[in-house]
Amino acid sequence: MAEVLVYVDHVDGAVRKPTLELLTLARRIGEPVAVALGNGAADTAAALAEHGAVKVLTADAPEFADYLVVPKVDALQAAYDAVSPAAVLLPSSAEAKEIAARLALRIGSGIITDAVDLEAGDEGPVATQSAFAASYTTKSRVSKGTPVITVKPNSAAVEAAPAAGAVEALNVSFSEKATGTKVLSRTPRESTGRPELTEAAIVVSGGRGVNGAENFAIIEALADSLGAAVGASRAAVDAGWYPHASQVGQTGKSVSPQLYIASGISGAIQHRAGMQTSKTIVAINKDAEAPIFDLVDYGVVGDLFAVVPQLTDEVKTR
Ligand code: FAD
Repeated sequence: MAEVLVYVDHVDGAVRKPTLELLTLARRIGEPVAVALGNGAADTAAALAEHGAVKVLTADAPEFADYLVVPKVDALQAAYDAVSPAAVLLPSSAEAKEIAARLALRIGSGIITDAVDLEAGDEGPVATQSAFAASYTTKSRVSKGTPVITVKPNSAAVEAAPAAGAVEALNVSFSEKATGTKVLSRTPRESTGRPELTEAAIVVSGGRGVNGAENFAIIEALADSLGAAVGASRAAVDAGWYPHASQVGQTGKSVSPQLYIASGISGAIQHRAGMQTSKTIVAINKDAEAPIFDLVDYGVVGDLFAVVPQLTDEVKTR
């Protein structure tokens, strides 16, 4: 069976959920071979093996932390040369997408970004994407070289599938460009204790209807009752009610959670562009004609100041 390279997103050895989702998808098209780089790379092996990695290629060197993406591209290319895979899968994070693009260019392949599903095809893996602000669902396949595909978080369920997960050291020689851009400092964002917006299984978002920064407390309360991340429309962000890092949409983040709850959001096309691939969409809006109701699975016509706290109380009783 053909091998599929899976780029591992991890923090000091703790594998992030989107990588485990990638392993589920990789198993549909071949045998997953994981590539873990940087501090704690070898510590990822147990979790990766539990989710189907037949092999885990690891490398650690100061270059991975001290410089921007090129050392990781060098390492992924070394893995590519060693394995000759049928496909290379990466999560759709900003960093991984840059790595994917640089790798595809180096190996002369085509790239598909932000896939929301992946299946085996007669002529190679077929990726599903959402296009033109989610007005279309497209299916594409790379027609030149080894497909390099990035996949959005929450596109597949995490499935346990124990495999060998034998750890092998990857031999990496860094290119001249590897040390071209040095990282001078890293300032971690203050943690809210909530899941990362783009990876969260549930997102609760507020829009102009929330009517003030202080009122976002009711959106946060609902989010916390569900273990969700908080999102915001651009109108709410532009008004200074919520940080831009939480903006969902064309000029914000793209999310694809299991459940998206939009409160006081009209459903402008630019907002839909960032959330329409969510599996279940719920909207709370006092205007029954609001365009958001065209795409919801469940809609509540009502005042969010009445509905959201009731919903929070109800969730808390369960
Ligand atoms: P509105 O459209 O004003 O809707 C507010 C809604 O709240 C209304 O439907 C109203 O009925 C409802 N409401 C009011 N009070 C209550 C209440 N008490 N209870 C219940 N419902 C209530 N937008 C984004 O979100 N993300 C983007 O990334 C983005 N990028 C853009 C890029 C470009 C180039 C452009 C031109 C626009 C972009 N926009 C983006 C803006 C977008 O067009 C909309 O203006 C924006 O999404 C509107 O936000 P909203 O739904 O919160 O506000």
